[in-house]
Amino acid sequence: MARVFCVANQKGGVGKTTTTVNLAAGLALAGQRVLMVDLDPQGNATMGSGIDKRALALSVYDVLLESASVPEARVRSEKGGYDLLGANRELAGAEVELVQLERREQRLRAALQAVAGDYDFVLIDCPPSLSLLTLNGLCSAHGVIVPMQCEYFALEGLSDLVNTIKQVHANLNRELQVIGILRVMFDPRITLQSQVSEQLKAHFGDKVFDTVVPRNVRLAEAPSYGQPGVVFDPSSKGAVAFVAFAQELVRRVAAL
Ligand code: ADP
Ligand code: MG
Repeated sequence: MARVFCVANQKGGVGKTTTTVNLAAGLALAGQRVLMVDLDPQGNATMGSGIDKRALALSVYDVLLESASVPEARVRSEKGGYDLLGANRELAGAEVELVQLERREQRLRAALQAVAGDYDFVLIDCPPSLSLLTLNGLCSAHGVIVPMQCEYFALEGLSDLVNTIKQVHANLNRELQVIGILRVMFDPRITLQSQVSEQLKAHFGDKVFDTVVPRNVRLAEAPSYGQPGVVFDPSSKGAVAFVAFAQELVRRVAAL
């Protein structure tokens, strides 16, 4: 049965989508069956998987509104080696349409349960907010992976996310836990980043993943070629880090 993980952080531009896409491709390279769910109306994870978001016949929007099942709406990312439930601007409307519906925060969970046997991992790329879309992600998941830049205000933002996760755990999803914090866009030459990295480890202990993803321009270039970085340039430092992260996650999940 699939393990379902959200990649979440309410800040934008912290590396959520880059993490989701490269982790999905890294897990696929490790022989895992992966479904990636793009829950951000920007559709960056969709485009970064080599799927044109404007050409999607069905998307996660249709799944949330229960007008399509996951098997009907998923497409294959040939580049990434995983299945994808894509997103585009249409998804922005789902927020408003869901508010008045029953089980509005449990829609994705129900849909994913129907395909849990098809996958080893389901990865959900969340939007940069604690919205109803993110809530659907958190209600579907066993755990949350939090990508974080080691910057001064990063720790402050983290407490909001941790509180949200606690509330969802208490009220909506008893399975939910923080799987780990992933340090991304890391530059060891910047003293502050090394200091924040140490603070993170002191505060969160083994909830901080061992793998550190460096700042690496190849990871930023890959989406414009419609490819995950780990496929676009496998020998780049960023790609090597994400492949190592995928392996670390497989080990951690086996020990859970
Ligand atoms: P989010 O999904 O949290 O908004 P993204 O994954 O889209 O964040 O990343 C924001 C920007 O930073 C993008 O332009 C992306 O290409 C770039 N980026 C992400 N991770 C790295 C990295 N490790 N090295 C260099 N650039 C990165
Ligand atoms: Mg994103």
